Amino acid sequence: MYSGKVKEFLKKRKVSEGDFVKFVLKGVKYCGILLPNEGTSSTDSLMIKQESGYNVGINYNDVECLTNAGKKATLGGVSKFKDLKFNKQMPNVSLVATGGTISSRVDYKTGGVYMLMEPNEILKTTPELVDIINLDAIESPFRIGSEDMSPDLWSLMADIIAKRFNKGDVGVIVTHGTDTLHYTSSALSFLLKDFQKPIALVGAQRSPDRGSFDGSMNLICAAQYVTSDIAETAIVMHGTMNDDFCFANRGTKVRKMHTSRRDAFRPINTLPLAKIWPDGKKEVLNQYRKRDDSVKAKVCGGFENKVAIISAYPGADPEIIDYYVDKGYKGIIISSTALGHVPGYTQKKKDSWLPVLKRAVDSGVFVGNASQTIYGRVHPHVYRQLIELEQMGIVFLEDLLVETAYVKLMWALSQTKDLKRVKEIMLTNYVGEFNQRIVPEAFLY
Ligand code: ASP
Repeated sequence: MYSGKVKEFLKKRKVSEGDFVKFVLKGVKYCGILLPNEGTSSTDSLMIKQESGYNVGINYNDVECLTNAGKKATLGGVSKFKDLKFNKQMPNVSLVATGGTISSRVDYKTGGVYMLMEPNEILKTTPELVDIINLDAIESPFRIGSEDMSPDLWSLMADIIAKRFNKGDVGVIVTHGTDTLHYTSSALSFLLKDFQKPIALVGAQRSPDRGSFDGSMNLICAAQYVTSDIAETAIVMHGTMNDDFCFANRGTKVRKMHTSRRDAFRPINTLPLAKIWPDGKKEVLNQYRKRDDSVKAKVCGGFENKVAIISAYPGADPEIIDYYVDKGYKGIIISSTALGHVPGYTQKKKDSWLPVLKRAVDSGVFVGNASQTIYGRVHPHVYRQLIELEQMGIVFLEDLLVETAYVKLMWALSQTKDLKRVKEIMLTNYVGEFNQRIVPEAFLY
């Protein structure tokens, strides 16, 4: 809330919180949304959300020619559209809305974006959907940022998706925060491993109140994807920084590779499944599983929570491993350096991970090895230490992403306690999570 002189200043200019304003600062013209000053800045500051999405506090004395630009800040585009009218002749698709930036709006208290949007408002940002799908149902079991996601919610999503498919939907779109989107896409890939209809996970790097909102095109391309015959769980997001096309990337071989770029999701160790244009044009870039509408959706397995990712790095204390073993963890994924190394032949013997890893394996903890380099594969035979790790019983997980390995291990351990069987599950290629050969173009694609 503004008070005192600032309040007067705004009142004189007929400007209030939530208004789009134009003003001049040191000779340069600016515009943005006036946010409340909730004590995060000096009492003389006007809080402005700039077009770039970033908030600045500006002393009102420095601001010249402040005018109300005439419109109230609402969610980008939403106020323009009435409820969308879907055409029942179009393919039936459901939306599972879980939160994230794609369904957020500016919170005028803090000026930050907040997961507040009603699920049907998401659609109103993208009226083009009516020309592609008939929206059969919207399910919104929870609305959270993806950093707050948990394995029980992955299972809940899979149950809902299976239910929707068994009612006859041709595809399901999941809207979700981007930060942990690839964990969820891995989880859904494994839970619905035998299923043969498309599932698209979509998010946005910019919120709908911004001109650069990327969620609309992602949703349109997702709608094109789920009505195609590519029956895989995929993340469908911008392929470039422009609004030209999206990539559909296989759910177990994709990762957020940038904090904020609209094209942050890149395929890892493989090519995208397809390039998808908003007008429905598709270019298939990889082998894919084909749609088979006769297969019933069945959720397979769940998740054992006592699994951890532990990163190997210079100076990492081996007691970290002991901690997890003593806490009763059933599985560990070592995020190892490059080909599969951990601190082993250290200058000081006490710094070596080899004895604690041996203790972990001997105590019945499944230890898997995936590389922190992200690209490439771990290899148990190149160096002496790697041979020793393998002999100890540590399982080298080829070209699996660390995050995919973590989700897969939780899933495997939910199905059996028999570690031989867990190893078999971990090394079986269920949904394209392994590649025998990594094509050179896949690097930094
Ligand atoms: N932190 C947000 C989330 O993952 C970011 C986003 O949605 O893009 O939910």
